[in-house]
Amino acid sequence: MYKITTIPGDGIGQEVMNPTLEILETINAQFDFIPQEAGAECYKKYGTNLPEKTIQSCKESDSTLFGAVTSIPEQKSAIVTLRKELDLYINQRPIKSYTNPDIDFTIIRENSEGLYSHIEEDYGDEAIAIRKITYKGSERICKYAFEYATKTKQEKVTAAHKANVLPLTDGVFKRSFYKEAEKYPHIKANDFYIDAMAMYLITNPAQFDVIVTTNLFGDILSDQGGGLLGSLGLIPSANISKDNGLFEPVHGSAPDIAGQNKANPIAMILSGCLMLEFLGIQKEAEKIQQTIETVIKEGKIKTPDMGGNNNTQEICDEILRKL
Ligand code: ATP
Repeated sequence: MYKITTIPGDGIGQEVMNPTLEILETINAQFDFIPQEAGAECYKKYGTNLPEKTIQSCKESDSTLFGAVTSIPEQKSAIVTLRKELDLYINQRPIKSYTNPDIDFTIIRENSEGLYSHIEEDYGDEAIAIRKITYKGSERICKYAFEYATKTKQEKVTAAHKANVLPLTDGVFKRSFYKEAEKYPHIKANDFYIDAMAMYLITNPAQFDVIVTTNLFGDILSDQGGGLLGSLGLIPSANISKDNGLFEPVHGSAPDIAGQNKANPIAMILSGCLMLEFLGIQKEAEKIQQTIETVIKEGKIKTPDMGGNNNTQEICDEILRKL
């Protein structure tokens, strides 16, 4: 029996969580789903967007499924705090098109430092944000990127940084990347400045297998990945360390479409598959992924972001029917 904390959160986070649980409940594994709260709605009720009870539940569970939360200026980001509390330093985001074979790469984003340190200083008309990059933090994420490339039989790992403008901080990142690369001679290693990388992702995405980068750059590149696939509603993510994992779609709570039953649940369902892989339930994960691939390729049932008219539940029902 796997203990899984579920945090639907706000907006479409709630709408994509239910179909995901419905699908996970059909597979040959036992889950004890423990619902917890976080986000803007939670803040209205309890005065905090991340109750201690939620953090504890995540710590005590085998994994967490997280929908999406709406951020509120009064509070630190709930998801960033959870990543820190659970020391989930790896953020893995597969960008895979089921219709264009040129788009198939994975972003490995450093998840614990960089511009997400929550350290900002206010000097009236000036403000400063601290971007802390450590050798230890860079080394462990680069090591993971090469390990992941080895495990998944990929040819190349590419680092994205801005070491020409940030020679100290991104210098540390770049140095640790090439130091790690020496330990994996069977994997090609190269690097690009983040701005060039943004262009190459559009002009020649086929050249990328695994991309490793710092926190904010990884966040931006993954939304660009959403653009490449045509919708953010298709990209899952895994926040992991050796001992714990939190799985969430790359998209946010999408207030513009919330409550209209038209959110694409595929990113959340694929995040559930990443959780299954993390828990070692590999065969079932592959089965669901292949079913999603078939549904996308057939193109009969599509939410509006995919160019169709179907609703969230209809996608879920089609996946269930094929499973
Ligand atoms: P955050 O900062 O919390 O990541 P965001 O402001 O970047 O959120 P999203 O909430 O991810 O933005 O939404 C960006 C756009 O993508 C919106 O137009 C939204 O409707 C669309 N979108 C996001 N997720 C989905 C989805 N699952 N299905 C359909 N459209 C989506």
